[in-house]
Amino acid sequence: MSVVKDATNDSFESFSDFLASKGLRMTGQRKGVFEALFDQTGHFTAEQLLKDAKSLDETVSRATVYRCLPLLVESGVIRKIDVGQDNKFYSLNGASQTFKAQVICSDCDKIYDIDAPFMEWYGKNVSEKLGLHVKDQRLQVHAECPQHRKLGACSHTS
Ligand SMILES: [Zn+2]
Repeated sequence: MSVVKDATNDSFESFSDFLASKGLRMTGQRKGVFEALFDQTGHFTAEQLLKDAKSLDETVSRATVYRCLPLLVESGVIRKIDVGQDNKFYSLNGASQTFKAQVICSDCDKIYDIDAPFMEWYGKNVSEKLGLHVKDQRLQVHAECPQHRKLGACSHTS
């Protein structure tokens, strides 16, 4: 009905096709994980996804989620954001395929996504000059968030 719903259906179909190309099936548990994805806002961890997937389908196990995540990344539904912390973060790719850079507050670890299309262009150009094909690239900026700048420190909620 809504645009969001259509995007979800498209992603679901392309993920099903991706699984099929790997000789894998869209099982009930994988569907649960997939549906929980669209309850996520912003960045999420595997544990957050597990919690939401379990509330949709209690048969979803931790192993299912951890095995499903690399498949979702490879299929392009989500992307992995490695900010050098213990927890790996993920984010839905959504309609925008614009390259994102992450700006991370060096105190509270809050992550900001910013569009950085020039980065993609730069990586591609530099690589092509060397006859290489870009597989992955990232830009991380460490900064002080507005709260840190205003108060000199961040409130740590977790
Ligand atoms: Zn901060």
